[in-house]
Amino acid sequence: MPELPEVETVRRRLLTCLPGLVVRDVVVNDPLVSAQSEAELRALLAGRRIAGLRRRGKYLIVDLGAVEGAPGGAPGPGGGPTTAVIHLRMTGQLLFRPAPADRPPRFIWRLDPRTDLAFRDVRRFGRLWAFDPSAEHEFFARMGPEPFGDAFSVAYLRRALEGRRAPLKSFLLDQRRIAGVGNIYADEALFRARLHPLRAAGSVGSREARRLREALLETLQAGIDHEGSSVESFVDPAGQRGSFQEILSVYQRTGEPCRVCGETVRRLEVGGRGTHYCPVCQPRRGGMVRGSRRLRGSPVPPRGGKPPDGAPPRG
Ligand SMILES: [Zn+2]
Repeated sequence: MPELPEVETVRRRLLTCLPGLVVRDVVVNDPLVSAQSEAELRALLAGRRIAGLRRRGKYLIVDLGAVEGAPGGAPGPGGGPTTAVIHLRMTGQLLFRPAPADRPPRFIWRLDPRTDLAFRDVRRFGRLWAFDPSAEHEFFARMGPEPFGDAFSVAYLRRALEGRRAPLKSFLLDQRRIAGVGNIYADEALFRARLHPLRAAGSVGSREARRLREALLETLQAGIDHEGSSVESFVDPAGQRGSFQEILSVYQRTGEPCRVCGETVRRLEVGGRGTHYCPVCQPRRGGMVRGSRRLRGSPVPPRGGKPPDGAPPRG
């Protein structure tokens, strides 16, 4: 599933070819791709020049200027600037000048000079939105800070972790706490930080929080440097695969030796998500959460002998 490094890779690639092009038409082949109709999307996108591309968490943002020649560039569907947002979700691929394929893309932006930006998405969870730029703040209102932004400080992370009973793995996946982290980079960052995925988020001390922040930034940066992970279907807009999957430490390496200590990489489920870790490099410490079916029957009591939420132990 595309996470921050994959979406950033898509953004950087599209930056080399999209800005300056005009959206001539919008074709929606799969109405489930947007809550808006093809006609609404056309009204908000067609005739507008692509001005820039940004990213927020796992969302790609396309800035489009007012319809050229429109009276005063009136706002909204009348011809003003538009913000388009695309979420790739599981298998979305944005392809510039796509090669012909059997299955039609879920949507196509026909561009001027003549070329296409096509959205292919086998699992069909990806989404497209288009709205007046004034609505952007509200759209992202609940999203946590960008990992590479100033707001994602050690102090912020400590505050966000404080008192949380959720396992660290689930904490990292929560887009309200940190934007852009998904399953691959969460597992890899926890390995790099030497923190067990089932540690209660609130049990993480200040030195560990600092380590976790650094590990997250290093892991995400490595993902960007390798142009994303093509563990499954990820490709960039030119159809090229990333290479971060070649240097994964734990993610989907169950049963293989840890690259650091040689111990066998294990897998468990945390919050329904497959989670990969090294039991030696990421030892159990105080404040563990029992979040896995596999651990049932062999619970490790957290520090103080009480579950972190103070609730009676579950059978
Ligand atoms: Zn290890």
